[in-house]
Amino acid sequence: MKLGCIADDYTGASDLAGLLARSGARVQLHFGLPPDDQTSTADIEIIALKCRSTPADAAVRECEHAGRWLLARGATTLYWKYCSTFDSTEKGNIGPVAEALMQLTGQSQALYCPAFPENGRAVFMGHLFVGNQLLSESSLKDHPLNPMTDANLCRVLAPQVTSEVGLWSRIAQQAGDPMPGTTHVIADAVEFSDLERLIAQTPDSVLLTGGSALAMPLPAKLGLAQNRPAPWPEVASSSLILSGSCSEMTRQQVATWKTTYPAFQINPEDPESAGQALAWWRHQAPDQTCLIYATDTPERVKASQALLGIQDAGQRIETAMARIAAEAYASGVRRFVIAGGETSGAVTQALGIAQVLVGPEICPGVPWVFANQSSDPLALALKSGNFGGPGFFIDALNVLKGL
Ligand code: ADP
Repeated sequence: MKLGCIADDYTGASDLAGLLARSGARVQLHFGLPPDDQTSTADIEIIALKCRSTPADAAVRECEHAGRWLLARGATTLYWKYCSTFDSTEKGNIGPVAEALMQLTGQSQALYCPAFPENGRAVFMGHLFVGNQLLSESSLKDHPLNPMTDANLCRVLAPQVTSEVGLWSRIAQQAGDPMPGTTHVIADAVEFSDLERLIAQTPDSVLLTGGSALAMPLPAKLGLAQNRPAPWPEVASSSLILSGSCSEMTRQQVATWKTTYPAFQINPEDPESAGQALAWWRHQAPDQTCLIYATDTPERVKASQALLGIQDAGQRIETAMARIAAEAYASGVRRFVIAGGETSGAVTQALGIAQVLVGPEICPGVPWVFANQSSDPLALALKSGNFGGPGFFIDALNVLKGL
């Protein structure tokens, strides 16, 4: 293995895996910490954790463990992957984990660049844009767990770290100015060529951290890119879509699906919701793909959070989704489309999936991935909140039909 990556949620890891697999390098994705006795590794190993919204000390411990696992198996480069919208709170976890990984690798600086030009995420003068809006004016300001209310990434990162944060602006990069000497450096990038330049110009003594797109030039830099045909397993079963994301795009995707196909909404305030959803699902035609969703408007999410508390409201939805997925699996479903990072983590854990092969991309940042390839294959599409177009759920099912 040459490249070892740690991702703070499951959809982000699957996004990274899909983009790195474009290079033709062999990519292995683990959900949760892999066992210590696992020695066989691919060119690129990705460890998906569920630590975006956990307390910083727990996130640091898990990421250190993952970093040690990767370094012990030969990783020459470590990459710390978080959300392209820099989802975090004042207390972490992006900065604290970067500092811990620097300790492990002995690197003296860390570069941060969440830009993902193909998906409209750009950083300019240290400010993160989502499409043509500043992060703080985009729908991310209403995220149920990590509302992002400041687009200035230097300001967002500063309270999370113990030393100074600097900016490597696009103008400075284009002028050939070297990376600033501060321990932590936010880097601008608007186009993919900016990310290629960053990877080419950043010295090895710097820990690379960012969204998935900054990692894309790494396989070529590390000599891993190749033309490898990908044998994907056939997964013959009905499909189920589960959505716990409340992002603006997911809300559009749910609305688009509901115009034509069956859907059932679960409610965090109703403890019977998961059971009712399952009863409804069992009454649909066996080969009919259904959507079960918690997705709701910011106003209704806030009302549930006021009643139950933010953590408890989210936890109830994740527990319900995990139960629905496990019961659907027991009934023979082997194709799952999941919307939402936390939701994907909960479902993947409930299904006991530890390791997957990366398959074809549905849209930038969302590949199908396959578990248990040889015995009882299972296909999963794990979608981060804002990814995909309005017809994403249908697009995902169509990609599998075409295999
Ligand atoms: P995204 O990828 O859009 O960030 P996540 O699944 O990571 O989606 O996060 C959405 C969070 O909101 C989850 O913790 C989920 O359980 C929670 N949630 C979903 N629906 C509701 C709802 N109706 N009320 C309160 N919380 C909700």
